[in-house]
Amino acid sequence: MNDDPYAVRRRGLMFVLSSPSGAGKTTISREILAQDEAITMSVSATTRPKRPGERDGVDYEFMDVTSFNLMVNRREFLEYAKVFDNYYGTPAAPVEALLAQGRDVLFDIDWQGTQQVAEQARDDLVSVFILPPSMRELERRLTTRAQDSARVVASRMAKASDEMTHYAEYDYIIINNNVEDSVAEAHAILKAERLRRDRQIGLGEFVKGLRQGG
Ligand code: 5GP
Repeated sequence: MNDDPYAVRRRGLMFVLSSPSGAGKTTISREILAQDEAITMSVSATTRPKRPGERDGVDYEFMDVTSFNLMVNRREFLEYAKVFDNYYGTPAAPVEALLAQGRDVLFDIDWQGTQQVAEQARDDLVSVFILPPSMRELERRLTTRAQDSARVVASRMAKASDEMTHYAEYDYIIINNNVEDSVAEAHAILKAERLRRDRQIGLGEFVKGLRQGG
């Protein structure tokens, strides 16, 4: 934190990336996190089984339905939703702590969660929807990922076309033809949104200082 009372500070923003499974959102999120120190990933809670290679507390907080419901009842989620056959939710406390420190938070949540965040904190939300270049490519990515059974892949393909209808609820759309370009586009959105006048606190005093020759 800067000690200068007239310094321009910034409110943290909530950067939401949504897409149908397999459209490349996970890779894009990882790259943004690697390239940008001012943004932190929100770790969701989920009742779905852990996939190979996933780590508890890093990829998700894996929990049973009873623990999840307890958090719902205690109103500990910023948002939560049933996606496919499992529950997913964003624990509110870590997000609030980060935003209060002026840090940005990256969310990989679905359209239902994005709607809930928009209802609660529209001014702090920047939402991006990622589309695959084609359904054929989406299927290829889901199949080569091979983390899920054929039945799950088929069900995700079927749901993907429904999920895509929600593109119109998002601020920005990226068509993921090429991961490198998509990362650069997502990062450009983040950088521009940080500069919005209403996110910068203390501008009036800063400009007053400038005009006084400071
Ligand atoms: P996966 O099981 O493939 O990790 O995620 C499935 C879907 O759940 C993805 O579309 C992802 O964006 C969504 N998701 C993950 N965490 C959350 C969350 O905390 N809230 C909501 N609403 N969706 C989530």
